Amino acid sequence: MDCGHRQGRHQAAIATVRLPVNDRVLIAGAGPVGLVAAAHLARGGVPVTVFEEGADLSEESRASTFHPPTLDMLDDLGAAKPLIVQGLIAPAFQYRTKKHGLLAQFDFDAIADATRHPYRVQCEQSKLTRILADGLRGNPCFDLQFDARVTGLKQDGAGVEVTLDRRGASETHRGRYLIGADGASSVVRRALGVEFEGFTWPDRLLVVSTPFDFHAVIPGLTAVNYVADPERWYFLLQIPGLWRVMFLVNEDASDERVQTREFAQSLMAGVIPGISNYEIDHITLYKVHQRVAKSFREGRAFLIGDAAHINNPLGGMGMNGGIHDAVNLAARLCAVWRGEKPEAELGRYDKQRRLVTLEYIQKTTIQNKKNLESSGDEFRQNLLAIKADPARTREYLLRVSMIASLARAEELG
Ligand SMILES: Cc1cc2nc3c(=O)[nH]c(=O)nc-3n(C[C@H](O)[C@H](O)[C@H](O)COP(=O)(O)OP(=O)(O)OC[C@H]3O[C@@H](n4cnc5c(N)ncnc54)[C@H](O)[C@@H]3O)c2cc1C
Repeated sequence: MDCGHRQGRHQAAIATVRLPVNDRVLIAGAGPVGLVAAAHLARGGVPVTVFEEGADLSEESRASTFHPPTLDMLDDLGAAKPLIVQGLIAPAFQYRTKKHGLLAQFDFDAIADATRHPYRVQCEQSKLTRILADGLRGNPCFDLQFDARVTGLKQDGAGVEVTLDRRGASETHRGRYLIGADGASSVVRRALGVEFEGFTWPDRLLVVSTPFDFHAVIPGLTAVNYVADPERWYFLLQIPGLWRVMFLVNEDASDERVQTREFAQSLMAGVIPGISNYEIDHITLYKVHQRVAKSFREGRAFLIGDAAHINNPLGGMGMNGGIHDAVNLAARLCAVWRGEKPEAELGRYDKQRRLVTLEYIQKTTIQNKKNLESSGDEFRQNLLAIKADPARTREYLLRVSMIASLARAEELG
């Protein structure tokens, strides 16, 4: 395979060479995180093959919030502009309580000097995977194979051998490195024998989507809203054409029961007094976990995204953190591949990203959940104090935007 036609900003630095067929980076999983890693590698002139178990890219509606530094990273891959075109720009977000209404609004203007995108973008993750795959079409360094389920692996000092199931037939493929971006139930993580430490909440997350126009009934509403309440908190997230309302469900009702329209309507009736019987497009139920892989690297195999860490969706940090993993790892792999950095450089991926995941993503998302379900006074006072102090507002926005987590990763060396 000829990957000699290089693209991107590293063009001048890379010599044109013919590579043996198996001299590639293999990636398990064509979700948003696997494809960001693939885009970074292929644009850096590193040949990459992505194995995806599905027959096509997933259309599942999960993540919908992209944070400012993630947009900066996607912009470097040519993917931010098309994402913004397909999504909604959210220059601010709000906290409300059912009892007090609007508590505080935070505007990203306060961190406009720290990012090229001082706003969140509300857009489904399936739009991003499509944009990335389309952008890579025709790149000789990029190969995406569907119906290719990774089932196992073994590695030696020179490479990794992956076994695949392709419509019932078994195949093996060899690469120089393997990236496991195969989601929460990662086969790669299991095959490496890496523990997924943490816990699963007893509550489940119910996502109800509706075309109902909440702007018409809540004046000044922003596209991202967290509504605290000790009995039934929820958050309201707008994407083009729809609002997604997310509730935690902790009653004894079965999974089947909570996914009925009747149950969803009963929760929706608590959102705006006097409004019920919403038009409902989707009802989806998720388990909620807080888990981090004990190691993000074993030899020549790496874990990124949900394969490495999962968390509750409060704050929108799962996919964003995964994309930060992908960029961190892919940049190091590019440098090692081109001989600019020694192999030891790859150790910094595990060191930086694992600690930041524990210190920021896990801590913040657990605290966000506690805040929204607290009786409210301490959380309310704290939020109002942050809002009243420009220095604390800025520090808070840097933290919730995950810019602080990226700075901390750098500090770790
Ligand atoms: C309701 C909800 C809302 C969320 N909102 C947000 C949000 O706003 N912001 C945010 O940052 N995060 C959010 N998240 C989390 C986010 O969805 C995940 O973190 C994100 O999908 C992780 O991306 P990934 O590429 O690592 O894994 P996935 O999206 O799970 O992709 C994994 C891919 O690997 C493939 N695969 C799996 N096993 C194999 C195998 N053995 N071989 C080959 N391919 C395989 C799968 O088919 C899939 O295509 C939300 C999650 C939920 C449930």
